[in-house]
Amino acid sequence: MSGTNDTHGGPALPQERRLRTEIPGPRSRELLARKQAAVPPGIGTTLPVFVTRAGGGVVVDADGNSLIDFGSGIAVTSVGNAAPRVVERVTRQVADFTHTCFMVTPYESYVEVCETLNRLTPGDHEKRTFLVNSGAEAVENAVKVARHATGRQAVVVFDHGYHGRTLLTMTLTAKNMPYKDGFGPFAPEVYRVPLAYPFRWPTGRENCAEEAAAQAIDMITKQIGAEKVAAVVIEPIAGEGGFIEPARGFLPRVLEFCRANGIVFVADEVQTGFARTGDLFACEDEGIVPDLICTAKGIAGGLPLAAVTGRAELMDSVHVSGLGGTFGGNPLACEAALGVFETIERDDLVGRARHIGSVMLPRLRALAERSELVGDVRGRGAMIAIELVRPGTKEPDPVATAAVARRCHAEGLLVLTAGTYGNVLRFLPPLVMPDHLLEEGLGILEKAITEV
Ligand SMILES: *Cc1c(COP(=O)(O)O)cnc(C)c1O
Repeated sequence: MSGTNDTHGGPALPQERRLRTEIPGPRSRELLARKQAAVPPGIGTTLPVFVTRAGGGVVVDADGNSLIDFGSGIAVTSVGNAAPRVVERVTRQVADFTHTCFMVTPYESYVEVCETLNRLTPGDHEKRTFLVNSGAEAVENAVKVARHATGRQAVVVFDHGYHGRTLLTMTLTAKNMPYKDGFGPFAPEVYRVPLAYPFRWPTGRENCAEEAAAQAIDMITKQIGAEKVAAVVIEPIAGEGGFIEPARGFLPRVLEFCRANGIVFVADEVQTGFARTGDLFACEDEGIVPDLICTAKGIAGGLPLAAVTGRAELMDSVHVSGLGGTFGGNPLACEAALGVFETIERDDLVGRARHIGSVMLPRLRALAERSELVGDVRGRGAMIAIELVRPGTKEPDPVATAAVARRCHAEGLLVLTAGTYGNVLRFLPPLVMPDHLLEEGLGILEKAITEV
């Protein structure tokens, strides 16, 4: 495992937290002013330090500060930034050719990425894969395939779901602000049903899986008609919604219902995929074999790539040239993905993700014992979150959550927030993060929560 990044041609990037200025420093503030004049505010900023290098477990900014990275660019740089095998392959490729359009004249790396995904994704049935540019595009294409294959139109999604920002995928997304507000009208034939959210289930965790599944299935059969439904689209762990692990038993029950009614079960593993949760895919935890699976974020070390993988008979139902796009499966992105697959396997990043979970969860649970602000600790592998509440209640506390995040940022720890109620701190460290940075980051977080 490479804890440092020495592919820059210069010295290895030190794996340390180092604060040279306040956060953000003067150079970043200058750049932020330029950003504000050139880029619309609709493109938000979590932490306004401008990055010059990153690798292993750190992000280095224009003022020379080195921050501990608990975000991985939203679960993207799981193999680390500028990971050596990614850099080597992409560098070679960029000198050979940068684009032909796979639909015009194909190249081998695209096919190899698809073969690999067909092999690695859950289920040993015959599969096909095609490549696109973003998670949203993958989800949209999965819906296109499901509709075409079934001849049905309705799509069922869940409370707290997030699937992207295009017209269809923002329609599939649950949360109004900031994703949907003012951007309607939305796409037709999208229906939302309850998700088994253990911490907030009204009759308690123990009833959550069964009651939520019964309610979801009742809504599908009574309000839509199961025979009208092309696809059920679900994240096996809700990402933006707040790292909600559906109560165990919920996903298998929904899958069983889909199978019985000819509905295509689409797993949106855009955030959970590629070793993040301590399995290669989050579906594996309960033995879920989806009909179609969407992947993106962690697939190519930050190069834009996404994939739809699924049953050959569904995928092959679409006519010639019914799918695709100019840039989909760009050769640089494909080489990067091959470097990522190799890194996950050779460096046992599934094992690393589990290790990260085994370090983080006990410390966060101990913190929850001490602090009434922490209402819930959850997640798997290196996809961990805490939910902050008003002490003694389950009332979400987004103000305290923002305050904790700000304190962490000021101390050089990059954390992200999430959640339907804006009260979740989520942790997505690169899987190659060295232990000493992980421990140091947790120390900063504990201090920030105690102080708030
Ligand atoms: C990020 C995300 C998407 C959208 O991916 P983009 O690449 O931003 O379009 C879709 N689904 C899930 C679960 C995500 O986390």
